Order: sequence, then structure tokens, then C-alpha cells
Amino acid sequence: MPQAIRLPDNPLVRARATVGDFELTVCTDGTYLLDGGAMFGVVPKTLWQKRIPADAENRILLGLNSVVVRTGKQTVVIETGIGNKQTPRMQQIFENHALLPASLAAAGVDPAEVDIVVNTHLHFDHCGWNTTLHPNGSLTPTFPNARYFAHAGEVAHGRLQLDRDRVSYLSPNYDPLIESGQMTLLQISGVGATAAICPGISVELFPGHTAQMMGVHIEAGRATESRAAAQGAPHACYIGDLIPTAHHLDPTWVMGYDLDPLRSIEERKRFYARAIPEDWLVLFTHDHDTPMARIELSDKGKPVVAGQ
Ligand SMILES: [Zn+2]
Repeated sequence: MPQAIRLPDNPLVRARATVGDFELTVCTDGTYLLDGGAMFGVVPKTLWQKRIPADAENRILLGLNSVVVRTGKQTVVIETGIGNKQTPRMQQIFENHALLPASLAAAGVDPAEVDIVVNTHLHFDHCGWNTTLHPNGSLTPTFPNARYFAHAGEVAHGRLQLDRDRVSYLSPNYDPLIESGQMTLLQISGVGATAAICPGISVELFPGHTAQMMGVHIEAGRATESRAAAQGAPHACYIGDLIPTAHHLDPTWVMGYDLDPLRSIEERKRFYARAIPEDWLVLFTHDHDTPMARIELSDKGKPVVAGQ
């Protein structure tokens, strides 16, 4: 397959790949720490700690991957990390580093050149750098010339400020963009519903983690808008929090954070039914060490990172 995975020298740039004639660069907002139990739901610690170690406070190290796609016509950024609006208390809890601007610079990406920003959902660790907080307290779009895309249902859910997940929805990450008209709120509904973002980039609903979480498809063949060219064309997919890390590939290893874990399990199976036979390059949002991989079935029939 023409898709090449190259490991970069600079740790601020996590990976590069080509998908057809699209260039993909995995940038990072740095690492952060979350409770290992919350990340693995009902999976016993004796099992998950064999894959990823926990610290004395039971926390595991996670990444905050943003993917920059250069299609030749557009520059697209998928996901924007935690950002710089955390209170000192929250920064102490998560030990995040707010590195995305430095990471983009290291990758040679000027925020002003970005045409499109896509958020898979609006949890604080996926849309933090949508806006930048300045020392004088003002807030500006980090990507001044971009059109931002998110799902209307995520905004509506965040505004409910439910006991379960209100801490995850921080309105300065999206309300200023909605008010200025810079963010388009998508309305697609139903499992597997899709929407085109630009030639070669589309989103698809994979509910479970949240009711309207979207994966982002990157299909170079689609850029020509020819069906023949799209058949068997290289395909990558940023799968968001459906499968946050390569340690979560087992369909039943879903997160405690998921609002509908049974749906997540079914959505993972639906994802694998295409991603494995079609040899998709899968981009993981929270895996600092394995930001992308192809998936295959093990001898036991479980999805695993290919070639390991
Ligand atoms: Zn999330």
C-alpha cells in the first residue's frame, strides 16, 4: 500500500504519513494524566496494567493528538487538544503542557494557513485550542482564517450542564466561534450518518462516547469526486474517542467515560468491519506513542495493531 508511516525526529511532531496525495502530520498538545480505571471502564486493572502502567495515583499517561491534513487545496486540522484556558488547579490535576502551537510550528504549520478545523466532539480535551486566551484576558480564534466544524448536538448537550459531564464542556472553547459565525454546527443524525467537509474529508457519526461523536474520514481518492478513483483508494480515519488508544482495540474495552458503552461496543464492530478489510490507517486521539496504525485480527480474532 502507498500509505507510509514515518517516525519523526522531533518529539513535538508525533508522526507523518501520506494517504494518496494527502500529507498527514500528527501534532500534539503534549501529554496529560487521567485515571486508568476511568479510561478502561469495567476492565480489571490486573488486565489493563499489563498494557499501560499506572502511577502511584492510578493515573496513566495519554496523548493529545491533532492531525494536520494537507490535501493540496486545503489545510485541515482535526482536534485541538486541551489548550491554554485551564485553571492552575486543573493544570495541576491533568499535568498538561499546552504544546500545540509549538508542535504546529515544529511541523511548519502556520495557524493562519489553516482553512478548516474539525472537532470530533466538544469535550475539553478535544477543542481547547479552538480559541487562545491572551494575558490581557481576551479570547481569539487560534486559527483566524479557518471555518470550524462541530456537531450541533454536542453544543446542545454541553449547554445542559448535566451533573455527569458538565466539567467536560467549557463554552469558551466554542461559544465565541458560534457567536461570530466562524463555527458551522452540523445537524446529521442516525448511526453512520455522514457529512462532507471538503473534497476528501468527511465526518461520520459513531455514537457511544457521546451521542454525536464523529469520526473523520480522509480519502484522497474522493478529492477527484470520481467514484472510480475512490474505489480502493487509500483511506485514513481519525476515530476520536470511539477508540482512544491502541490499547483500547478490543471491542469490549470501552471507557468508563462513555455515556452509552453498549453502543460504543457495537460502533467499534461496525468500524472494524470496514477498517480492517479496507486496510485503513487509523489515527488515535489519545495515544502518544502509537498515534496511527493499521488494524488486523489476531489468531484469537481480536483487533490488534498490524505487524506487531
Ligand atoms: Zn471525550
